[in-house]
Amino acid sequence: MELLANAKINLTLDILRKREDGYHDLQMVMQSVTLADRLTVTPAQGAEGQAVSDLRFLPTGSKNLAQTAAAVFRAATGLGGEVDVSIQKHVPVCAGLAGGSADAAAVLRAMNQLTGAGLPTEKLAEMGAKAGSDVPFCVLGGTALAEGRGELLTPLSPLPPCRVVICKPPFSVSTPQLFGRVNVRKIVRRPDTAGVIAALEAGDLAGVARRMYNVFEDVLEPRRYGEIASIKAALIDCGALGASMSGSGPSVFGLFDSEHDACSALARLEESYRDVFLCAPAGADYEV
Ligand code: ATP
Repeated sequence: MELLANAKINLTLDILRKREDGYHDLQMVMQSVTLADRLTVTPAQGAEGQAVSDLRFLPTGSKNLAQTAAAVFRAATGLGGEVDVSIQKHVPVCAGLAGGSADAAAVLRAMNQLTGAGLPTEKLAEMGAKAGSDVPFCVLGGTALAEGRGELLTPLSPLPPCRVVICKPPFSVSTPQLFGRVNVRKIVRRPDTAGVIAALEAGDLAGVARRMYNVFEDVLEPRRYGEIASIKAALIDCGALGASMSGSGPSVFGLFDSEHDACSALARLEESYRDVFLCAPAGADYEV
């Protein structure tokens, strides 16, 4: 079975409080995009399933999130045997775009069909939380508000049609370090989450774009902050209606209502960066 595993961007990312269990309660407006890995899921050749990709540094066995998801599905349903998963990676790794979680979600959807389990999306999403906190959203797809650690989902009105330019600068940001630097009581700038949701309901792309923000941007190391700010400035300069960092970074994206402006931004960022992508919002109806 062949599937697409769509990446996500964070239209907003806010941290509401630190919980007693050490995790943080988040509030994020998440959006699937057409930038996607391509997966093939087949019955395993050997006794244990493998996950083979075109990136040699990714784990191939049970540590690959695609295999984690297969194990979660088998444990939760008692259905399905071992599977081999072949992954063409297009979503950059450790980029704040949930590439691994998207692969995990695609395997859950594949096994749901291959085994004939036919579980509803909500059940599959709930199961996905055991494979990672972004997996439930990746199962659901489209546009949604994610709360708690990211597993409490409320579908939202879709982002109006637009172009999305994503740029991943060549460094990684440690998610635990970022959380460690956030002092929830000292957050000064926050996204206007309610305003973004209202603008989505009104079909107002510019209204969404100008209210986006990611609170992690303010706790980046100064030189990383500078690079993220300069990519945002380049996107805005080329005509983006708004730009923000996605997840725990370092990917930055801009939303455009003009194909021409989006192509200019792509060309401009490609002069300095290797990982630059032009894509669009993806709806909740996945191509299988
Ligand atoms: P998020 O936005 O959810 O924080 P991310 O973009 O920062 O995700 P991913 O690319 O999803 O990060 O995953 C990064 C880690 O997961 C890496 O350490 C990588 O080795 C591991 N991993 C396991 N399986 C996969 C997979 N199928 N694709 C990508 N990374 C995987």
